[in-house]
Amino acid sequence: ATLPYDDDNIFARILRGEIPAKTVYEDEFALAFHDINPQAPTHLLVIPKGRYVSWDDFSARAEDREIAGFVRAVGHVAREAGLVEPGYRLLANCGINSHQEVPHLHVHIFAGRPLGPMLA
Ligand code: 5GP
Repeated sequence: ATLPYDDDNIFARILRGEIPAKTVYEDEFALAFHDINPQAPTHLLVIPKGRYVSWDDFSARAEDREIAGFVRAVGHVAREAGLVEPGYRLLANCGINSHQEVPHLHVHIFAGRPLGPMLA
């Protein structure tokens, strides 16, 4: 079962403007900003504006327009950052085994170097 949404999580606070983030894109459905501890030359996070704990929560509860808006935003951010060539990786952790640390859905965008095989 998904945990209840915690309005004090760090990304909720970023959405409310209570703590700063290096924002690269914002629209009705999504906010994108630089990860504070980058794991690649480009490491962005894209989050939905709605109160969703995880990919599981979002895919189960969000309205179709929120899902479409969020997916489009992820693609837009990667394109606008010039990442399509030579490529990028998306990752969303969900649940204990994934080591998800922040309980607001976020999709990581990694780019800027050859990323190697998955889970290497
Ligand atoms: P997770 O392990 O939950 O998938 O990833 C959480 C990510 O959020 C990590 O990559 C971490 O560096 C990033 N992060 C944690 N706190 C902050 C913050 O306050 N600001 C930003 N920009 N990123 C954060």
